[in-house]
Amino acid sequence: MKRILIMMTEAGGGHRISAEALREAFHERFGSEFQIEIVDMWARHTRVLLRRLPRSYRFWATEVPWVYKSLYRLFEKEEQLTWFWDGIYYWVKKPVSQAFRQYVPDAIISVHPLMQDVPLRVLSHMGWKVPFFTVVTDLASIHPTWLHRGVTLCFLPTEEARRQALASGLREEQLRCYGLPIRTAFARPVAPKEELRRELGLVEDLPAVLLMGGGEGMGPVSRLARAIASRLAEGEAGRPAGQMVVICGRNQKLQKDLLARTWPIPTRILGFVQNMPEWMSACDCIVTKAGPGTIAEALACGLPILLSGFIPGQEEGNVSYVLKHGVGVYKAPAEIAETVFRWFGPERAEREQMAEQARRLSRPQAASQIVEEIARVMATCEVSRPAQIRALLEKGGRHGSTKVAGTTLGE
Ligand code: UDP
Repeated sequence: MKRILIMMTEAGGGHRISAEALREAFHERFGSEFQIEIVDMWARHTRVLLRRLPRSYRFWATEVPWVYKSLYRLFEKEEQLTWFWDGIYYWVKKPVSQAFRQYVPDAIISVHPLMQDVPLRVLSHMGWKVPFFTVVTDLASIHPTWLHRGVTLCFLPTEEARRQALASGLREEQLRCYGLPIRTAFARPVAPKEELRRELGLVEDLPAVLLMGGGEGMGPVSRLARAIASRLAEGEAGRPAGQMVVICGRNQKLQKDLLARTWPIPTRILGFVQNMPEWMSACDCIVTKAGPGTIAEALACGLPILLSGFIPGQEEGNVSYVLKHGVGVYKAPAEIAETVFRWFGPERAEREQMAEQARRLSRPQAASQIVEEIARVMATCEVSRPAQIRALLEKGGRHGSTKVAGTTLGE
């Protein structure tokens, strides 16, 4: 059995979901041939102050977006990045190398922009040669920290991202473009919409709008929900023009606040859901911030996208991507409710056209294609580690409790 370490961190929902999508695809395609370990490297294997950084993501991105954007732009410049990584490297090289000794991976996959430079330097310092794959989980605006010339392969979600990687100096043969990895359930056929609505407890024959703000329930979700509900309540002959599903993700405060209200149209308020393919497929359009994971999943479900906002810097390119490919619109919060109302009434044809275009653009097989490529490369790629580690592995140290430099090998 070969071991793969997937490095991610809990900032938003997207990185974890992509990591899980890859693990799921490995299991579906290769059974128990690979043992996949998903690890939050920042939280578990860096130093105290850095550990908290990913979890503060929602605060920075929503409360002080100008600071977030300034930092994002500052570190786009190579000279700033160099001193930043030099500093981080000296700070965390010990815990990161201990982590590698603990997991002893046969391959490493990074699904986070801040996990290329330092891990690659640490591997080189340790004298380990292990295939290293970056799976980019942003859609169209790719921060330079994603793009490292030392990787074995870099998987990109879109042609726009591939062009950026080439411009950054990665070689054509290092790049693969299969789409953004989403959960394999998005590639399976689903029941007809009416049936799904019945199963999920929605009104069968009323158009449905899905409202969400990423895994953390970010943005003006509450304000949008109230505006959409009051506009859709103005239907005809006492019947509303539509129903609404609000997914609050991990934002419990938002969920509690919305559950305490009364709604003028049929409305479902949910926390973090595990069956996103079903909720998306049961709806007719989605209102969301420009999160890459949510956009890729919405495309797979043929959902036209109404973008209500974006995280400065990192999600800006996703807005242009959606507009350029004709799969949605970007509106100020004040105009969103009116657009949903029109899409459910006089402008239904526009919505249906976007739904078709979304299906054409989607790449629901991305996770399966990525893992097949990784397995192919692993079958031929050389893995070398210092003699001491090799000897321990040969003795079955991985699954035992053999100690190397004070670190337990294996589980
Ligand atoms: N998500 C989910 N259940 C929820 C809310 C969100 O599975 O209740 C998933 C969503 O399907 C998507 C991810 O969380 O895969 C959000 O990723 P995105 O890139 O859109 O935004 P982020 O949360 O990373 O800012």
